[in-house]
Amino acid sequence: MDNKEQIPSPLSPEEFKKLGYQLIDDISGFLQEIRDLPVSPGHKPQEVRDALGQGTLPAKGTDPASLLKQTAALMKEYSVFNGHPRFMAYITSSALPIGALGDLLASAYNPNVGGWQLSPMATEIEVQTVKWIAEFIGYPVDCGGILVSGGNMANMLAFLVARKNLGKDMDPTLLTAYVSKETHTWIHKSADLFGIGRDNVRWIEVDAGRKMDLDELEKTVLKDIADGFKPFMAVGTAGSVSLGVIDPLKGISEICEKYDMWFHIDGAYGAPAAATSLRPLEFDNLKLADSVAVDPHKWLYSPLEAGCTLVKDPNSLKNTFSHRPDYYEFDEDPEDLPVNYFEHGLQNSRGFRALKIWLSFRYLGRDGLVKLIEKDIDLSRQLYTLTGNYPEIMPFMNALSITTFAYVPMEMQQNRTENREYLNEINKEILFALQYSGTAYISNALIDGDYLLRACLVNFRTKEEDLVILLDKVVELGNKIHLTQK
Ligand SMILES: *Cc1c(COP(=O)(O)O)cnc(C)c1O
Repeated sequence: MDNKEQIPSPLSPEEFKKLGYQLIDDISGFLQEIRDLPVSPGHKPQEVRDALGQGTLPAKGTDPASLLKQTAALMKEYSVFNGHPRFMAYITSSALPIGALGDLLASAYNPNVGGWQLSPMATEIEVQTVKWIAEFIGYPVDCGGILVSGGNMANMLAFLVARKNLGKDMDPTLLTAYVSKETHTWIHKSADLFGIGRDNVRWIEVDAGRKMDLDELEKTVLKDIADGFKPFMAVGTAGSVSLGVIDPLKGISEICEKYDMWFHIDGAYGAPAAATSLRPLEFDNLKLADSVAVDPHKWLYSPLEAGCTLVKDPNSLKNTFSHRPDYYEFDEDPEDLPVNYFEHGLQNSRGFRALKIWLSFRYLGRDGLVKLIEKDIDLSRQLYTLTGNYPEIMPFMNALSITTFAYVPMEMQQNRTENREYLNEINKEILFALQYSGTAYISNALIDGDYLLRACLVNFRTKEEDLVILLDKVVELGNKIHLTQK
């Protein structure tokens, strides 16, 4: 063989078609079976590594048909299925299958959505998708926005925009940001990355309903001003990660107005609920924010990854990120300026994230999506009610689509505080045993020292019967673990 013959020609269109059909058959088989598979395989890391094989980088290629078959089989055997009807952990949703098709289409055309010239239709689809997300959650549609990889990035981007637009010429070590104690951990990373430092994050206490205490917020702002700090931003969470609680958005917005601060809302999880008739009315105040983070890969059921930052002033993104290097020379009509997303965020080359979201908006329409979200809220309320059928389960709270509860043996129900340490331990063991069992998958919340079991419904496949299976299993495991400890 001479050298020329060894140059591979990666998948001819005919081969692509054959392999593609086969792969789609495998995936559709998986989707058909998903309800009857264990939610989680319960393997140890070493078992997974062994299944994968520990070979070094192969020098020679492999037949693509068997390669794709093997890979699909590995994924099926060794994955946690967040699309399983009894996956109710963290805030990870079931992904709409149309999103998977969208990802295939997006990567096949592979537009670079960093510049309009490189991705005319893809850029316009992203522009439209961002507007539709805003419209869906009731945010002004003349806002600016950009898709990013997830909620953390969406919040971090907003933080940077706030700091660049409001804290512009100030000494960053004097800038202070205000968040409630329930705020997600993106705030630590932002404070580190964007110069203010963690010491300049003020953790405001929450009230009995776990919402930010407005009096303490204002007092802390006033004290900081007196001490020479420059308060520049306050964050309200619309759907907290542990409990689904919504901060007093209107109240925070008034304080921001009064002290000339940026008002950001972390709606990574909860914002899509604003479109539903079951929403807490505080959601109608999303429109007051200078910026909002939304996570389409959570409650818009988009496959990972997709986050979105919305900003009320569309210029604020370019004010923060625009820099035109010499190597970007575009012939642009000043009367009809296109969007170049590299000027609106941190990324330069960008993938076509918008397509999977845009397709689900078009496929389901607003009404279809609203119905899916409402069903999740409804199911999580049912779960809360169903705990009443189980004397060993004590419900804690239901908000948005999160329900928290704990297993408490009958003889400890009158003196829970005394038994706290034991109860925390046993609930942790139940959680781990449940995750290993493959029956259902939930996560936990730690609230005022109490370890709670937490089910978050952002799953269009879950049915009421799944809630019963979950609670039955929790009690079965709890009783078993409790008996062996006595
Ligand atoms: C999930 C979540 C985040 C982080 O989002 P990722 O997509 O996981 O990066 C931030 N804030 C809240 C309120 C969340 O629920």
